[in-house]
Amino acid sequence: MKKRKTWAEPYKIKMVEPVFMTTKAQRKKYIKEAGYNTFLLRSKDVYIDLLTDSGTSAMSDRQWAGLMMGDEAYAGSRNFYELEEAVRHYYGYKYLVPTHQGRAAEHIISQLMIKKGDYVPGNMYFTTTRLHQELAGGTFVDVIVDEAHDSESTFPFKGNIDLKKLKALIKKKGADKIPYVSIATTVNMAGGQPISMANLKAVRKLTKKHGIPIIHDMTRVAENAFMIQQKEKGYKKKTVAQIVKEICDLTDGATMSAKKDALVNIGGFLALNDPEIFDKARNMVVVYEGLHTYGGMAGRDMQALAIGIGESVSCDHIRARVGQVQYLGEKLLEAGIPIVKPIGTHGIFLDAKAFLPHLSQDEFPAQTLAAELYLDSGIRAMERGVVSAGRNKKTGKHNYPKLELVRLTIPRRVYTQAHMDVIVDSVASVYAKRNKIKGLKMVYEPDYLRFFQARFEKL
Ligand SMILES: *Cc1c(COP(=O)(O)O)cnc(C)c1O
Repeated sequence: MKKRKTWAEPYKIKMVEPVFMTTKAQRKKYIKEAGYNTFLLRSKDVYIDLLTDSGTSAMSDRQWAGLMMGDEAYAGSRNFYELEEAVRHYYGYKYLVPTHQGRAAEHIISQLMIKKGDYVPGNMYFTTTRLHQELAGGTFVDVIVDEAHDSESTFPFKGNIDLKKLKALIKKKGADKIPYVSIATTVNMAGGQPISMANLKAVRKLTKKHGIPIIHDMTRVAENAFMIQQKEKGYKKKTVAQIVKEICDLTDGATMSAKKDALVNIGGFLALNDPEIFDKARNMVVVYEGLHTYGGMAGRDMQALAIGIGESVSCDHIRARVGQVQYLGEKLLEAGIPIVKPIGTHGIFLDAKAFLPHLSQDEFPAQTLAAELYLDSGIRAMERGVVSAGRNKKTGKHNYPKLELVRLTIPRRVYTQAHMDVIVDSVASVYAKRNKIKGLKMVYEPDYLRFFQARFEKL
């Protein structure tokens, strides 16, 4: 197939969903009622929804057709076997346990592999991943390269593991205290940053020596593979599908939130190569999710997922997906907006510390900025800063992450280039009045994953 010159969308639109603009007075009321937390806004009051790329993808006509092929048998649904075939074909893992979404797979693998007192190293934490590791009695240890914590560094593989940090942890705690290394492709919390194949190979070599498995958070593996194709030496001629397979082959099992890369609105799975762990996982899934041939998913959803996996690794799709994100990022850089560099794959991360330098971290700069953006234009973004980082289990104090970010997450195949231009305009208009923006104080704080439901008031 001849390569296209631009990232222009490799599809045309067959059905549309209207969106509505609100007035400034309405938005003022809505954000106050939502406790200045964008998670608590109603979607009908949002103009462009950049809260997340999770479950927000537009499905293809083929996937919608797949929904009609649902085999809703309680046991042994045809769609399960098609999904199993897709997972084996594209990712190469031997055994599949479907779950209703990613965190359910994280729950199962954490409970099965982590013992009290264990340490789980990873390339930066993800909220649900770390929580399940902690609930299983483990302690998460961040072994990502230092560049990942520096929003100004343009290092192309900020998702890399720092081998020195990993070696030091193995030496200090002993390999028997490390049930697995947790590797995410790409690293969401670092700004959608990829890990390089060279780094992954080095981690594989080191962990093999110590008999430590690698569990792969493959939520955005196709996006990571695309960045390897574009930026890593020796991968220009390989297809995204080949690179995805190569990544998976370097790991022992995976948790997947299919709501991201795999272009469905709900779904996930645990994929494994070890028959013994698989046996236990297949037994555990019936307690928490459903029978092992549907695990919390309808047959039709498994069919849409099986098709989505194939679409997600197509070069045309992934080039347009990441191309749209890069377009938005470059326009924001041209407008002088402080964002995390290099531009990632699933969204743009505004650097709230640089955007609102007059606010201390106790005044929640990222939370504030997300609320201000909604006020300006009805665009909904997400806080990824001190609120998301939660509290230290032992001291009860806030975890103060180095990065205080607002994530503008781009849903797959949903918005157009004109929407990207509207986003740039709105961010620039908030930036122009940044000196007048006041911070927030937290007035309600839930125990777990507080960013979802915390409430704030204006200072
Ligand atoms: C979304 C996400 C998860 C959790 O998956 P859910 O489907 O939301 O339960 C895990 N890891 C990463 C990197 C994610 O982005």
